[in-house]
Amino acid sequence: MFSSSSHLLERLARLVHNDAHTGGLKPTQWEALRYLARANRFSRSPGALTSYLGMTKGTVSQTLQALERKGLIEKQAASGDRRGVKLDLTSAGDRLLTHDPLGDLDASINALPKEDQKRFGAMLEGLMKNMLHRRSGKAFGACKTCRHFRHRHDRGAPHFCSLLSEPLSRNDSDQICAEQEAAA
Ligand code: SF4
Repeated sequence: MFSSSSHLLERLARLVHNDAHTGGLKPTQWEALRYLARANRFSRSPGALTSYLGMTKGTVSQTLQALERKGLIEKQAASGDRRGVKLDLTSAGDRLLTHDPLGDLDASINALPKEDQKRFGAMLEGLMKNMLHRRSGKAFGACKTCRHFRHRHDRGAPHFCSLLSEPLSRNDSDQICAEQEAAA
C-alpha cells in the first residue's frame, strides 16, 4: 500500500499536467521553455535538457524542433565547440512564458502561510534528492549553492566558477546548472 502523500502528489501532478495543454504547446514543450529560462549558459544544450527532463534524446529532439518551428527558441553554435549547440529563448518564447499554465500551481503555493511555503520547499527538495539518488540523476541546483561557486571578483564579474574557470554574474548565480554539486 502506498502512502496518501504519494497519491496526493500523483493527483497534483495530474492536475498540473492537464493544465499544460494550453497556449498551443504540449506539456514537454512548456517544460523545455521553463528549463531554458532558468538554465545558465553552460547548461542550455540539448544534452543537458535531455538529462533534466529524464526523457529520450529522440523525444527531446522533436520537442526542440517543434519549439524552433514556432519561433520560441533559437539554436546557435556553442562557443569553443564546433559540434555543440546552445539553445536560447527568443523574445516570443519569453513572452509566452508570462502565460505559463504553471502559474495556477504557483499561486496556490503562494496562498499557503509563509512558514508552510518554506517547509514545503525544503521537503520537496529532500524528496527530489532521494528520487534522483535512486535514479543516479543530476540535481540541477542553483549555481550559488554549488561547491564550485566562489564569491570573489574575477575579470570584472562578482563571482567565479572554479570548475569551469569562468566568471559569473549575479544573474548566473541564481540560475540552474547541469554541473552543480551541492556545497557541503
Ligand atoms: S559554480 Fe557550479 S553551478 Fe555554478 S557554473 Fe560552476 S559548476 Fe555550474
